[in-house]
Amino acid sequence: MWSNPRGDFKLTLILFFGALTAGGVLPFAIYRFATGQTFVGLVDLAIVAGVGLGALRAWKTGKSEGTALMIAVIYSIGCMLVSRMAGLSGVLWIYPVLLANFLLVRRRHAAVLSIVVIAFVAAFDVALPNIPQKAMFAVTAVEVSLFAYVFAWRAETQRTQLEAVAARDPLTGAHNRRNMADELKAAMAASERDAAPVGLLIFDLDHFKSINDSFGHEAGDRVLVEVSELVRRCTRKQDRFFRMGGEEFGLLLPGAEPAALRRIAEKLRTTVEQEVRRGDRRVTMSLGAASYCAGESADSWQRRADLAMYRAKRDGRNRTVFDDCCEHTAGLAGDATPAPAFGTATRSSQDG
Ligand code: GH3
Ligand code: MG
Ligand code: MG
Repeated sequence: MWSNPRGDFKLTLILFFGALTAGGVLPFAIYRFATGQTFVGLVDLAIVAGVGLGALRAWKTGKSEGTALMIAVIYSIGCMLVSRMAGLSGVLWIYPVLLANFLLVRRRHAAVLSIVVIAFVAAFDVALPNIPQKAMFAVTAVEVSLFAYVFAWRAETQRTQLEAVAARDPLTGAHNRRNMADELKAAMAASERDAAPVGLLIFDLDHFKSINDSFGHEAGDRVLVEVSELVRRCTRKQDRFFRMGGEEFGLLLPGAEPAALRRIAEKLRTTVEQEVRRGDRRVTMSLGAASYCAGESADSWQRRADLAMYRAKRDGRNRTVFDDCCEHTAGLAGDATPAPAFGTATRSSQDG
């Protein structure tokens, strides 16, 4: 009951409300019919049917956001009608409905529904004949809504914070590997939609094990942090920086043509070489670069960048290898300069 195969919490909530409405409202519908309150009974039945059909729709289509809004509207209209016709017993339903709305829909939508419901009931409910009673109802209902608003706001803030923490590597602050597949797919879709180039760099620190061995693991950690800060300093806001594991990183560069990709890769490589040191040793890294070729899979794109990086290692480290194996077919880059053939280092220097 508390989880569903799609892992969609909103869907679970809708199914829960479907069952709750059937169990909580249906007996009252029967009671209304039995006591001759046919119209109120019909409203109760309509609420049960509307919420039940909504739950079925959400289960079948997975459209849980739209269905949740529909259910919140059904609850709100239903309780306004019942309060208009049944007096006090209608007013009692207002409080759970106000809370349910904040669970089901966005805070802003729930707040609007609260205002409409409270104003309607305060104005028209037959059980609230004078101003003090109307005021008492309005104040208590507004308070319940405010509390629900604060709870919803707190839950949303905490969820956003948790998502941000889960997406980052704690040491370097880079996005983690889990996040990378989604980001690559989003970048590929944007590239094809806008006919804009997008580049990927994969880089790995050279002989990092010997840095750990010579200076200790903590010094190695600081090198990782320094390199990450430097990468962030050299890149733009729209670029995405990932720690893929250990001392291997990825950098996704939307809008970067092959020539720009090569330029950025070299800038990163030379800046790290010049600025990051341990003792008298320069820290260097090997980079593989690949522009996205329209139509290829994320795996293929990443594999090309990976293989280029391994080629840079094999060719002597501290260099960039650019994979351009399908650059001529991409038609997106607008790079007038012919790229070097696969495995050509754009610059190499001695290992530090
Ligand atoms: P290559 O030039 O071929 O990449 O050699 P390498 O020594 O960099 O590569 P290797 O894969 O042999 O070693 C990677 C090392 O990175 C081994 C591991 O102890 C170290 N490492 C992985 N994660 C961390 C980390 O979070 N902190 C530190 N300090 N070291 C790490
Ligand atoms: Mg390494
Ligand atoms: Mg490595």
